[in-house]
Amino acid sequence: MDKKMLKHSQEVIEELMKKDGMSRRDALKLMGLGGAATMMGTAPTSASAATAAMASSDKKAKIVIVGGGAGGIMAAARLRKAAPNAEIVLIAPNDVHLYQPGQVFMAAGLYTEEDIKKPNSDLMPDGVKWVKDEVKTFDPDSNLVETAKNGKINYDFLVVATGLQYDYERIEGMSPELVGQKGISSVYLNDPKAGTAKGGTATWEWFKQVRAAAEKRDSGNPLQIICTQPSTPIKCGGAPQKILYLCDDMLRGNSPLGGKDIHDNAKFTFTKKGGKLFGIKSYNQTLLKLTVDYGNIEDAFGYDLIGIDADKKMATYNYHYLEKGEWDEDLEEFEVIPMVKKVQMKYDFIHIVPPMKAVDAVANSPIGWQKGTAKGWMAADRYTLQHIKYKNVFGIGDILGIPLGKTGGSARHHGPVLQDNLIAVMEGKEPTAKFDGYTVCPLKTQYGKIMLAEFNYDGPAPSFPLDPSEPRWIWWAFDLYMLKPMYWNLMMRGLM
Ligand SMILES: Cc1cc2nc3c(=O)[nH]c(=O)nc-3n(C[C@H](O)[C@H](O)[C@H](O)COP(=O)(O)OP(=O)(O)OC[C@H]3O[C@@H](n4cnc5c(N)ncnc54)[C@H](O)[C@@H]3O)c2cc1C
Repeated sequence: MDKKMLKHSQEVIEELMKKDGMSRRDALKLMGLGGAATMMGTAPTSASAATAAMASSDKKAKIVIVGGGAGGIMAAARLRKAAPNAEIVLIAPNDVHLYQPGQVFMAAGLYTEEDIKKPNSDLMPDGVKWVKDEVKTFDPDSNLVETAKNGKINYDFLVVATGLQYDYERIEGMSPELVGQKGISSVYLNDPKAGTAKGGTATWEWFKQVRAAAEKRDSGNPLQIICTQPSTPIKCGGAPQKILYLCDDMLRGNSPLGGKDIHDNAKFTFTKKGGKLFGIKSYNQTLLKLTVDYGNIEDAFGYDLIGIDADKKMATYNYHYLEKGEWDEDLEEFEVIPMVKKVQMKYDFIHIVPPMKAVDAVANSPIGWQKGTAKGWMAADRYTLQHIKYKNVFGIGDILGIPLGKTGGSARHHGPVLQDNLIAVMEGKEPTAKFDGYTVCPLKTQYGKIMLAEFNYDGPAPSFPLDPSEPRWIWWAFDLYMLKPMYWNLMMRGLM
């Protein structure tokens, strides 16, 4: 982060601190309670982290981990310590490790790409053999994986940590190459293999272009900006809205670009197929109120982006809605008929969140669910993270076909459960550690404020005695300044 951006951010926080009436002393107390750690699901008060027993074993066995992102590196660090006599092999193609949550701060003009990168070799735990390759086929019936360059590799235990893949092409006319062109951006775009995070850089440029274009408009002829969310599961479910609110706030003059408040010169439309901004009621209410208060954001529910004409700046949607049908004499109510029709929306700028899917190697193998809504994602038990059929196979991170979030915070909570359960099976016991569904979404509602939405399978799961549905400057400060060093130095080392 350069000095100008740092100064801007500190000024914003000082200002908000005064408004909130929270002193530095109170802020430090909260930090003592777990503070920033919670944003990656590391708060000591959280149930699954607190109950994890941290088992270990001196048995000899070969553990293969597939994937070298957040989940794979955490699993390697934990298992290296827990199973000192095991041979641990990590198969991952990527030389560079990206701190992906930082892509949103890149989009906001507060981080650069260099700020979120580290060589994977710096993170690889001592004593873990790194095979720089990609798995093409999983063959769990024979306890082996087949790689692109190193042939077959066998295992006694397997950890699947491949993350997910983007599916821009599912939107007709869209491709990753269009990001950064013709008014299109997408904060998600990254290439872990190449170690680039183009989505962050392109979205900051997009912010600048939006501002320059809005300066030439007025409230009678506002700039039309669309922000989309796809109907598939996505990682960091809050990121589509983070871009929406930050871009709006940028037009109010609150970004490092500064400038006067010109937000009336732009109209934002947030499109998603579902009918809520957030699945948990209290968080949803905060966000609905926010969009109303902002005045220039319209929520378009029922809209699923299916096509884009980049030259004409036209988006095509499947619009899902309900129509009143015939009167049902038996039920004594009108039939409700689900309807779909194609609609088009013209835009000046569009932020596209790609549909996401399981990586092909998992989806096309017996490791993935073979049917149902989670088809293709890893067929794991939602509590033990063990494969439903292959008892020596476990999963961590975004690839898991289980309910709720795909976040680094969830992966952090998978870590101790995976460790305990894999070690239990190594020792010939039943896996008993349970993942509680913990997910955390640090939703940036403006420059300088975050609503820290924590929840699990049972509903909201706040780690602090503060109303979690209220956006606060303190979560912004922790996210911006503390979380990244904690990610590199503690989480990736299996220390929390
Ligand atoms: C824009 C954005 C914002 C985000 N914000 C947040 C946030 O605020 N908070 C939060 O907690 N999380 C956030 N996340 C989500 C978080 O980054 C992911 O949930 C986390 O990285 C998941 O870890 P993972 O190991 O499952 O996948 P990844 O970290 O994506 O790693 C998967 C790895 O597997 C490798 N791989 C894939 N296929 C194969 C194969 N066949 N063989 C071998 N290796 C393979 C890939 O190269 C990659 O390195 C955000 C993500 C993005 C993109």
